[in-house]
Amino acid sequence: MRQALVMGNWKLNGTKASVEALATALIAPAKAASNVEVAVCPPVIFLGQVQSILADTPISYGSQDANVNVAGAYTGENSPVMIKEFGAKYSLVGHSERRQYHNETDAVVAAKFQAIQANDLVPVLCIGETLEENEAGKTQEVVERQIQAVIDLCGVASLSNAVIAYEPVWAIGTGKSATAQQAQDVHASIRAFLAAQDSNVAQKIQILYGGSVKGASAAELFGQADIDGGLVGGAALDAEDFAKIIAAA
Ligand code: PGA
Repeated sequence: MRQALVMGNWKLNGTKASVEALATALIAPAKAASNVEVAVCPPVIFLGQVQSILADTPISYGSQDANVNVAGAYTGENSPVMIKEFGAKYSLVGHSERRQYHNETDAVVAAKFQAIQANDLVPVLCIGETLEENEAGKTQEVVERQIQAVIDLCGVASLSNAVIAYEPVWAIGTGKSATAQQAQDVHASIRAFLAAQDSNVAQKIQILYGGSVKGASAAELFGQADIDGGLVGGAALDAEDFAKIIAAA
């Protein structure tokens, strides 16, 4: 009953030429997979270009981050209002690379989540444990803390209009995906954690898996009961592999 969602996170990659080629190449596979929502998150500088290519297609798009402020003296930032103006539907928030390289704390991520939602974008809340936390048996504790920070600021009902992406940091860009069973176990425990606070939200929310998803691994991951799709980095830059991932959902 939850719609499958396959989202590409292009990170800091692309040229005008490659963005045109990649966005255009995804239209046919997205149309063929009518049961799957396909979305891409280009660098914001390409949002206008992506809008003109994808405006009349079923492919949604979004940003990889948004500032907590809508306007003002914040050099170098992008406002959720500006992102919305380009027809975006989503914004990622709290990606591990933002947490790591931009020191985004759980509190910062929660504030951004609130600003994104307040400006009619759907937040895709990225969570996940580091290798060290994983090895210390702290996965559940970490993902619950990351989600609870949003619930404390925005209320559990805010998650009824949001997506969660579980991305173990040790699996991102490493070629070392979690196994389908490992991912399913964490997704199920995230859903149980939410169900204890609001069973409707827990049933409704799409929980995506991210971390070295490839065409070859997607079907098994997406076949798990609590995995509703994927947030895909490296493989999303390869139109052929991303099409395989879409077809697997
Ligand atoms: P990856 O990235 O697919 O290259 O591991 C996923 C992500 O960071 O969203």
